[in-house]
Amino acid sequence: MSAAASAAPSRSGRPGEVLVAFRNVSKVFRTGTGRAARDVVAVDDVSLEVRRGEIFGVIGYSGAGKSTLVRLINGLEPVTSGSLTVGGFEVAGRSETELAPVRRDIGMIFQQFNLFTSRTVAGNVEYPLKRAGWDKDRRRARVAELLEFVGLSAHAGSYPEQLSGGQKQRVGIARALATSPELLLADESTSALDPETTQEVLQVLQRANRELGITIVLITHEMDVVRAIADRVAVMQGGKVLEDGPTVDIFARPRTETARRFVSSVLHTVPDEREVERLRRAHRGRLVIVDVGDGVDIGGALSDGAALGVRFTIAYGGISVLQEQSFGSLTFELTGPEAAVQDVVDELARVTTVREVAA
Ligand code: ADP
Repeated sequence: MSAAASAAPSRSGRPGEVLVAFRNVSKVFRTGTGRAARDVVAVDDVSLEVRRGEIFGVIGYSGAGKSTLVRLINGLEPVTSGSLTVGGFEVAGRSETELAPVRRDIGMIFQQFNLFTSRTVAGNVEYPLKRAGWDKDRRRARVAELLEFVGLSAHAGSYPEQLSGGQKQRVGIARALATSPELLLADESTSALDPETTQEVLQVLQRANRELGITIVLITHEMDVVRAIADRVAVMQGGKVLEDGPTVDIFARPRTETARRFVSSVLHTVPDEREVERLRRAHRGRLVIVDVGDGVDIGGALSDGAALGVRFTIAYGGISVLQEQSFGSLTFELTGPEAAVQDVVDELARVTTVREVAA
């Protein structure tokens, strides 16, 4: 246990301070027994910080380790090695009893909503308050307030089966927020929903973050979800965090192929394999993908190239705006004297990221 870990989680932090800190955290599942025993490294040496007041996205394909990563935060799965603190409280190596105060401060919502089908909407939201020992009058007032917040006051007496998917998830959010947790874990919370309903649920999460100051860790395989509400994002694969940073930075300058693929799944500014084939058929010159956007000046390279007899054709591309920053990429076909084309590519590579489209 880290020497800095306190005996109880701290609630009185300021926005921007570290709330959750992973330091070289690994989680290994042992499956099978005897000779069939096998270790699965679900989370592999992850170091990561989630700050108070932010919406932190974790994106990755299925099996990347996202779910396991968030389940470590509230101790649903014990950490195998490394240090994990929540509000300065070391979670690794704690007993169920010791984890109780941390869990009280963490709400969770799930892809399949996990509502009690035999309880009404109000009954579902009231449940954690009952468990926390709130008296009846306070419970009633709090439930009314929460249902108002998620826009379901008119459905207090309905049962989950009478609700749409988006409404069910809003009940899930109200229930998770009931005891005013500091941190909300959202595990593929919109994956069972259509795009329109997804937006409706994301807006409620964003309001919980902005109006109630709740820190949210949101895991998803959809980059659209990250783009819509995450302040910062970590890209996971094979249990590892490949890269993490402000969402705008990951969108503008993805450093790994996986991040690039997620970004292009929503921006469509980089040609995919099929589009590359089509481009190859239509263009005989050298094809390069050039990242552009605010602060990237490719003017010099283009005018120098033109003076050397290089012709530029924009074959593909697009520009997008996220959090008031423009970014995207342009695929150029460059034709002209080979040495001059090379000079242009070198010059572009000095000011931005340039990728070659294989011939
Ligand atoms: P994701 O949420 O990104 O889909 P998971 O965290 O669910 O990824 O899974 C990561 C890896 O850990 C996968 O290989 C998965 O099969 C394995 N895994 C997850 N939970 C368990 C478990 N309880 N027992 C054994 N293996 C598990």
